[in-house]
Amino acid sequence: MIELTNVTKTYIQHKTKFHAVDNVTISVKNGDIYGVIGRSGAGKSTLLRMINLLEIPTKGSVVVDGQDLTQLTGKQLRLARQSIGMIFQHFNLVSNKTILDNVLVALELANYPKKERMERALEVLRFVGLEDHAAKYPSQLSGGQKQRVAIARAIANKPKLLLCDEPTSSLDPNTTREILSVLRKINQELGVTIVIVSHEMDVIKSICNLVTIMDNGKVYETIGLKPEGIGD
Ligand code: ADP
Ligand code: ADP
Repeated sequence: MIELTNVTKTYIQHKTKFHAVDNVTISVKNGDIYGVIGRSGAGKSTLLRMINLLEIPTKGSVVVDGQDLTQLTGKQLRLARQSIGMIFQHFNLVSNKTILDNVLVALELANYPKKERMERALEVLRFVGLEDHAAKYPSQLSGGQKQRVAIARAIANKPKLLLCDEPTSSLDPNTTREILSVLRKINQELGVTIVIVSHEMDVIKSICNLVTIMDNGKVYETIGLKPEGIGD
């Protein structure tokens, strides 16, 4: 599903070159819940953002679903990105739009068939347990609810891959479990491959089947895991 090969991202900091990600090779299989862990500044987020080319690698190739994204034209890349959903630590909802409109806008941007957008939006909101909140604004929801809206928005266009950047880092332990259980349901019931970046080992151990440990931009080790479960 994902093959990152010798991927490097170099930034210029204080007039010197600095490798935020340094010659990383990882392989994510279809159906994986793949974790990337490491301390702050290790390069996790940069690595994740190179999977959908939100960051352009300085070197290396990024093959997703058989396509090398670094070789695509702008138009081809926009199309390829439509099968990659993403969620963030701070949810990134549009605050002056309702929950329903947040999801509808995503479907519109993805060129989802116009006549089916409303039905699909309600369907994904139901999937994350929020259809009764469709008319509310993000500020009227709890953190856990906001992240569930962000998840609904990310899966609305039926992506094969969901990228999660510290998805539970601003949530309390109970809400964290609730979000992890939604992510696992998306993996198991919808067959979506998931990559989760986190600095919390408990989060990774509860649902991931593989974890890559990063430090200083490099892969320290990749280990197979037997997911421990979410306490349910
Ligand atoms: P993590 O997600 O593991 O906390 P990041 O990928 O966010 O790490 O950052 C890795 C390193 O790259 C950090 O030292 C960060 O300061 C640096 N970095 C990230 N983005 C930029 C940027 N746009 N310009 C310069 N340095 C950056
Ligand atoms: P969750 O179980 O998703 O974390 P909570 O138990 O925190 O939800 O919230 C319960 C209810 O309180 C929700 O219906 C939500 O709309 C409302 N609520 C939570 N936080 C806020 C807030 N900051 N402002 C307004 N309403 C809130």
